[in-house]
Amino acid sequence: MARTLLLGARLLDAGPIGSGAAALEVEDGLITWAGDPDAAGERRPGATVLELDGAVVTPAFVDAHVHATAAGLLADGLDLTGCGSARHLLDAVAARVAQRPGALVWGHGWQDQLWPDELPSRAALDRAASGAPVYLSRIDVHSALASSTLLDRAPGVSGAVGWSQTALSADAHHRVRRAALAAVDTATRDAAQTAFLTDAAARGVAVVHECAGPDISSAEDLAALRTRPGPEVVGYWGEAVGTAAEAEELLAATGAHGLAGDLFVDGSIGSRTAALRAPYADAPGCTGNRYLDATAIGAHVSACTGAGVQAGFHVIGDAGADALLAGLEAAVVATSAEAVRAAGHRVEHLEMVEPVQVRRLAELGVVASVQPLFDAFWGGPHGMYATRLGTDRARDMNPFAGLLAAGVELALGSDAPVTPVG
Ligand SMILES: [Zn+2]
Repeated sequence: MARTLLLGARLLDAGPIGSGAAALEVEDGLITWAGDPDAAGERRPGATVLELDGAVVTPAFVDAHVHATAAGLLADGLDLTGCGSARHLLDAVAARVAQRPGALVWGHGWQDQLWPDELPSRAALDRAASGAPVYLSRIDVHSALASSTLLDRAPGVSGAVGWSQTALSADAHHRVRRAALAAVDTATRDAAQTAFLTDAAARGVAVVHECAGPDISSAEDLAALRTRPGPEVVGYWGEAVGTAAEAEELLAATGAHGLAGDLFVDGSIGSRTAALRAPYADAPGCTGNRYLDATAIGAHVSACTGAGVQAGFHVIGDAGADALLAGLEAAVVATSAEAVRAAGHRVEHLEMVEPVQVRRLAELGVVASVQPLFDAFWGGPHGMYATRLGTDRARDMNPFAGLLAAGVELALGSDAPVTPVG
């Protein structure tokens, strides 16, 4: 039997990182002992000894918000995260089409706020696409550029909310995303899921929460993902219900763990679709989008609470948080604070929330599923959030320490492909 003794580790278990050194014994892949290094001496004979020099040893990670297929598709897709201009994006599309004429171009990661030029028009994208279906999601996956060939496969897209001659957002985006996902064949999807899970496992992730839903993936996609080896997949399904019976039905149909995740109350800051109380600093008159109001939120929370099912929502803007809190209060009236609390509901992102709201979320036992890399990538006095919102509003975003101090349990995630799992 292969036995390894790890010495000089700092063990991170349920509590904070210990200050003293610790020892750990692993036998055939299982931890068989952990304790004081002074007590490790008798375990040395026959063991391979590794000196860790104070390295942190943790349990495997849980990524509480991922989109496995979309993230995995990037391994073979068009990575636009480093794309510096519209010109560069169009060149990348043309080069990909030249390699694989007529095939779907799945790209992701552009951030136009950094570009010297304007977003490309559909006509310009069509010229680069030479007739190929092209889907290019913005970094936040709340808007996308698409070629006319792909749009032709998305019924009703031209009349939908969010339609434009450049990037599509809101319902128009959801329609074209569905068409793009439908153009991904089963073998490609399976390979993407496997690539994503393999990468996650290599980075120490043992469990992922897949945020599936009718607007961003599909029930088939989730079902396929749950059969794959590798990290455990906990599925969430983002679709609103009005009664406990509907909640139970939907859970049975999708195999989901809860009716939560990306059930969109609003959109994102980057795409200017997050719902704001006051207009965007860089788009006068624009206060974003509202996909679910307080009444619908309250009905969903009440229904899920009644069924003993976890409910949850995607909420980013301050007006989105207002709707969430009002919906939760409606559910408290319809059920009870104890019942709401017992169900352990969750909310994704929660980037703009006030202290008084934070305290109420703590009382109601709502878990905040947050993405620290959002703040790392787009926060700060000169970041994208400051551009979109002004420095005052941007500064108060993502109050992770405040949430934790108030007693809101935090779940951390990547929202891959929005930020990387690693
Ligand atoms: Zn997401």
